[in-house]
Amino acid sequence: SNSTAPIVIIGSGLAGYNLAKELRKLDAEQSLLMITGDDGRSYSKPMLSTGYGKGKTADELAMNTAAGMADQLNMTVRTNTRVTAIDVAAHTVSINDETVEYSKLVLAWGAEAVGPRIEGGAEDRVFSINDLEDYAAFRAVADGKKRVLIMGAGLIGCEFANDMTAGGFECEIVAPCDQTFPTLLPAPAASAVQAGLEGIGVKFHLGPLVSRIERDGEGVIATLDNGDTIQADVVVSAIGLRPRTQLAADAGIKVNHGIVADRLLQTSAEDVYTLGDCAEVEGRVLLYVLPLMASARALAKTLTGTPTEVSYGVMPVSVKTPACPVVVSPPPAGDAAGRWIVEQEGNDVQAEFRNEAGDLLGYALTGAKVANKVALNKELPAIMP
Ligand code: FAD
Repeated sequence: SNSTAPIVIIGSGLAGYNLAKELRKLDAEQSLLMITGDDGRSYSKPMLSTGYGKGKTADELAMNTAAGMADQLNMTVRTNTRVTAIDVAAHTVSINDETVEYSKLVLAWGAEAVGPRIEGGAEDRVFSINDLEDYAAFRAVADGKKRVLIMGAGLIGCEFANDMTAGGFECEIVAPCDQTFPTLLPAPAASAVQAGLEGIGVKFHLGPLVSRIERDGEGVIATLDNGDTIQADVVVSAIGLRPRTQLAADAGIKVNHGIVADRLLQTSAEDVYTLGDCAEVEGRVLLYVLPLMASARALAKTLTGTPTEVSYGVMPVSVKTPACPVVVSPPPAGDAAGRWIVEQEGNDVQAEFRNEAGDLLGYALTGAKVANKVALNKELPAIMP
């Protein structure tokens, strides 16, 4: 490895910047270069789905500029610069024709929004909102308009529906599943969130797919595969996120659902590490902030000479749907034998996932029951001790 070259971090999201901050706590001098495809502003991505409710524009959500962060963290930040290839043997990354050396490389390039494949020629009115620039572009088009069609009834679709309703929009959700949060919540909890959102005016079309979106004056008309049509001014696609893996795979780095890493966050390539939404750590792809914070702390130690395995404790997800608050700690996928035990009063649901022996493996709480998370967290096993 080339030890005089900088540690290169690709990506300026929460993973990249938290790692840089943790590194600087341990080593003030180590040469650091961040390369990012966006403008490098520091912001908290979860705030993208509370912007209307809190009355924050994209500019107001930005906490610092790339130059400000570079100053604060004594590093170089190259903005609007996409890495196009990695050569793990030579310890270099390419930016088109330019070659940049690294001593250690950190892939923190996140996940991309899955693009809907929709016919009809109105693609320019369909928005994915997965970073600050997406959010700014959406607001530029949506502000002053009224009707939003949201594709997807998962965490992000439901959060946007709640937030945009708070911002004065009329929201309709279309998703080809029979409940909200199809992968995250048991049915009674999902129904409670749906009822909460319906209570503030959100309309749901669960089951059909959007098959066509056409221009209709300034707005669009969407046709569902059950024949229904919906008129809207603008469309938000929230149908899923996919860890970015292609450049890693092209470089011969092992990928699965995400970029495969061990608990040192090391990939299959020497001196190449990964964390955040692009990483699959011992089989887990967790698209949340708490895992990347834990990863940033461990990886900073490893990169400064103290190999440190990351551990994930109890990390429940709070869903930002004030119309019906939700806290969920999903049972581990696959090997979790057990069943949901549900208590319900109206939209207040307490669902506990327990195994035969009665051990708590996961839970979902809605409405007033979210207050019980503190007690349940004490009973839950760590996600990756
Ligand atoms: P990103 O923030 O996506 O950063 C990736 C970076 O890599 C970007 O700077 C990008 O420009 C750069 N990049 C990509 N490709 C290249 C390339 N080839 N070359 C150079 N740079 C590149 N999590 C929670 O825990 N709680 C919440 O309440 C919550 N709410 C959310 C709400 C919304 C609307 C969304 C979208 C997500 C939410 N999440 C939440 C998830 C959380 O925000 C993410 O897990 C986290 O922000 C991921 O950070 P990251 O740094 O890994 O990725």
